[in-house]
Amino acid sequence: MADDIVWHDHKVVRSQRAENKNQKPCLLWFTGLSGSGKSTIANALDVALHSRGYHTFLLDGDNVRHGLCSDLGFSDEDRVENIRRIGEVSKLFADAGLIVLSAFISPFNSDRRLVRKLFPAGEFIEVFMDASLETCESRDPKGLYQKARSGEIKQFTGIDSPYEVPAHPELRLDTSRMSVDDCVDALVAYLLEREMIARKD
Ligand code: ADP
Repeated sequence: MADDIVWHDHKVVRSQRAENKNQKPCLLWFTGLSGSGKSTIANALDVALHSRGYHTFLLDGDNVRHGLCSDLGFSDEDRVENIRRIGEVSKLFADAGLIVLSAFISPFNSDRRLVRKLFPAGEFIEVFMDASLETCESRDPKGLYQKARSGEIKQFTGIDSPYEVPAHPELRLDTSRMSVDDCVDALVAYLLEREMIARKD
């Protein structure tokens, strides 16, 4: 980074932005194989929180690759840069006082650790979508496993590119056993318990 670039402190600070919204900012980081349910659950939680009046923002793997990361591919190097950018963008949204939901395969422990380090303790919530490769492959919602098996797509996570299972995720959701509603309930319960959101009855 250039030495002559100076960080500007803002007049309205992060905590004030969050206070205005009656919530605490955090990042829910959904990680797991393609087809494990990251987008489905992140979207369902987004709807649940939004309808309760919380201010959220959802960052989704495929969408980000259309814009912010359209110059990146799927090599190990590009995957690292993809996650680094998403981590920084998630941090900016959290600084704006939002509850951020990010759904990315993010197969490497080191990358997830890097994003975790951008956040104060307790604000990075790693949600491991723990569905087996067999389950994900049988769902194959985008037909990608079929293409990976036939060699049409290379470096596909779980097939010819590794997925490193999180050692200590804040939450583990087995979407082969839990329904979408069960997963959303578990996430909302976690946020209430940690007082990231307040009960609104
Ligand atoms: P990812 O974002 O991890 O690639 P998606 O959410 O796009 O995964 O796809 C998961 C697929 O599995 C969807 O077609 C969804 O309808 C289906 N599915 C079945 N049961 C569940 C569940 N309990 N949780 C999440 N997704 C489920």
